[in-house]
Amino acid sequence: MTALPAGVLREALVDVGAIAANVRHLRRLTDSEVIAVVKADGYGHGAVRAAAAALEGGATRLGVAEVGEALALRRGGISAPIVAWLLAPGASFVEAAGAGVELGISTMDQLNRAAAAATADRPVGVHLKFETGLGRNGIPPEDWRMVAAEAARLERIGKVRVVGLFSHLSNASPDDDRAALALFHEAIGVAASVGVAPRLRHIAATHAAIDLPEARLGCVRLGIGIYGLSPFADRSSADLGLRPAMTVRAAVAAVRRVPAGHGVSYGYDHRTARETTLALVPVGYADGVPRQASGLGPVRIGSGRFTVAGRVAMDQFVVDVGDHPVAVGDEVVLFGDPTLGAPAADEWADAAGTINYEIVTRIGPRVPRRQVSA
Ligand SMILES: *Cc1c(COP(=O)(O)O)cnc(C)c1O
Repeated sequence: MTALPAGVLREALVDVGAIAANVRHLRRLTDSEVIAVVKADGYGHGAVRAAAAALEGGATRLGVAEVGEALALRRGGISAPIVAWLLAPGASFVEAAGAGVELGISTMDQLNRAAAAATADRPVGVHLKFETGLGRNGIPPEDWRMVAAEAARLERIGKVRVVGLFSHLSNASPDDDRAALALFHEAIGVAASVGVAPRLRHIAATHAAIDLPEARLGCVRLGIGIYGLSPFADRSSADLGLRPAMTVRAAVAAVRRVPAGHGVSYGYDHRTARETTLALVPVGYADGVPRQASGLGPVRIGSGRFTVAGRVAMDQFVVDVGDHPVAVGDEVVLFGDPTLGAPAADEWADAAGTINYEIVTRIGPRVPRRQVSA
């Protein structure tokens, strides 16, 4: 690992080579077209760089939650097809249509607003979303035939182009996912019967793309996996052949030698057991280090592994390193690739009672991203 540049308190290294390699691996594994999901700033990795790396690795399409995220990718020079599936109530889709952004449609109203944004020479690309049980958005079974028939009519008059049909799985259990998949197949049949039979059908995110081969349908929407993290509690990145793309690290900002019984951080939740060295790590909950991981979160400093001592504060936390030699400026790795000795994002997730998705996605704007390629 390269040293932190002088003057840097903290940074997130983003290995774009890892993202490309993860896409390549998952594309081969699933034998499917990959829609790389780069919502929420590419799960904290930087949306434009994540998108570019995923396309480099063989993804052919991109997925985001909001239209604004799709437009930001266009401004960043990304020209691949992009679908956005969480649409603002009442929004006009004129700007999205102008940028060639495809829309994930969950209601007749959204379909009509999409059609209203078409120009004489360009229909608006849509993916019709069918609700298979998650209870979020998606067209309910009772409306599906009607909305699909209207989409067929709008397609015939050049207002929309139905690019895909899709849904999303709960991962509650393999049986729940198979039941949802069966409903989706029925919906595909109904859509075909009213004249909507696009080439793309997609329902599997990373979890099902890996574990439920029958859900691949030749096209998968991959988020967490492309960033090299596992969606499974019982399998690591390495178990899946993935490389974590993000490393968060900081420079030790202060070191002090203290006697036994010295309090550490707010509330003195930690008191030193013996004479020891305290190292100050300049990254806190404002940067996405979960306060719930107080007293629990792991770090690596040099050859040593330590745990957050006392409470995580807004900007900083303290590590009790005993007699381990630690100096101001030393690198502290919060998480990264465990095969290279870093703690895993999953360990922070366990410490905070959450999932690795949340750990990487919440890394805040005060943590500069630096692109690397191993
Ligand atoms: C976020 C999201 C994905 C990606 O899920 P992962 O578990 O990160 O692979 C796929 N589809 C939809 C609809 C999503 O919201």
